[in-house]
Amino acid sequence: MAMEPMIGLEVHVQLATESKMFCACSTKFGAEPNSNVCPSCLGLPGSLPVPNRKAVEYVIRTGAALNCSVADHCRFARKNYFYPDLTKNFQISQYDEPLTYNGYIDLKVNGEPVRIRIRRAHLEEDTGKNLHLASGSTLVEYNRGGIPLMEIVTEPDFTTAEQCREYLTQLRLILRCIGVSTANMDEGAMRAEPTVNLNDRATGEATPKVEIKNLNSIRSVYEAVKYEISRQRKAVAEGREGELFQQTRRWDESNGVTALMRRKETSDDYMYFPEPDLVPLEPDPAWVESIVSSCPELPAARCERFCTEYAIPEYDATVLTESRELADYFEDACKAFEGAAKTVSNWVMGDLTSLLHEAGVSIAQSPVSCERLAELLKLIDENVISGKIAKDVLAKMFESGKSAAEIVKEEGLEQISDTSALESVIDEVIAENPGPVEDVRGGKQQAIGFLVGQVMRKTQGQANPGMVNEMLSRKVKGEG
Ligand SMILES: [Zn+2]
Repeated sequence: MAMEPMIGLEVHVQLATESKMFCACSTKFGAEPNSNVCPSCLGLPGSLPVPNRKAVEYVIRTGAALNCSVADHCRFARKNYFYPDLTKNFQISQYDEPLTYNGYIDLKVNGEPVRIRIRRAHLEEDTGKNLHLASGSTLVEYNRGGIPLMEIVTEPDFTTAEQCREYLTQLRLILRCIGVSTANMDEGAMRAEPTVNLNDRATGEATPKVEIKNLNSIRSVYEAVKYEISRQRKAVAEGREGELFQQTRRWDESNGVTALMRRKETSDDYMYFPEPDLVPLEPDPAWVESIVSSCPELPAARCERFCTEYAIPEYDATVLTESRELADYFEDACKAFEGAAKTVSNWVMGDLTSLLHEAGVSIAQSPVSCERLAELLKLIDENVISGKIAKDVLAKMFESGKSAAEIVKEEGLEQISDTSALESVIDEVIAENPGPVEDVRGGKQQAIGFLVGQVMRKTQGQANPGMVNEMLSRKVKGEG
């Protein structure tokens, strides 16, 4: 039988709110263990939850970005289970009535369009965290307990690990773009759990579903999904499909394999019931409308627009739209420059990015504003300074906060475009290099490059290279 992988993804996202989901405790990452806790998030008897309005807004915003419908009425539910990192013995989540549902995301994988349906994006609270020490003891950390968590569930529409990778990449860009999460996987702010099985479309025959837990990078998801597909394929090919069963597996990064954790729980095991301490959530339609209508242009759409509107290569557009701030900077610089957008993208992606990287600051805090960068690029276009000198000028602008014009003036870096000033240097170079001069006269046009280089060296890069080239050619050929 022809079995095709059927993969669904469940992604948990910590929302970037200041306070927790149902109490006023801080959500700050990296705080002293068990310092951001209170009776409510520790689940002490008598404490009552109060929902975080910002968290509700963030889920609606995400739902809008993922083309979901927003419920006009929904409820929180209790998911009951015992685990040391969950003091209440239940987690407040959403079950049969999610806040947003029935959306989709369009991806492009290897040039092919793929639509992944989004089943739901709902709201819940994070659990604490167990830290297993080498000594064998376990510490429990409750700072994370109660942080607003959004769960985004897809339909099992993925058929390859590549599609999963592209989905997570785009989802992360979207979450950052709309400002609802840092989506930093290494800090646990975004965690993915794929469910993988094989399915025969013709007969409906399928292998049992396997859920893979604890994946904290996009690469791990990609590798784990690939491994799991091949593990199930192998069992089927060898006639051992009877050995496959519904289960939860973990990804063993160092050995590159998935390993059995436990037989899968069903939702019955959690005894879900409506949360009695919270009234149903009924977001005001006008408020929902204002959130939906203020959804910014999303990275994939912006990338496409950059390619057509600015005629820059897809690679540039992809890099520039990886952050909203970077994309804004690029667009504002283009407007201020009024020259070729490719020039702007080269400088933003090249010299400016390395300066920012070295200084460890983000584009939003760049000491060189987009207007200032545009001024620098204009100086190159107007032949006031050469591109080579401009690199040094940019570094000085970055360091001093001065404008390009100020630095050029102070340091006398104007390009020498004055014919008489260049003439004497060119004459010198011709006199000192009879060999290459003969080569040029003999028709070896590439030797002119060497002579231009000599003039540039003598003028510390300040000569106008186009002018030097033209004057040299004329002089060598005895035309002036
Ligand atoms: Zn608290």
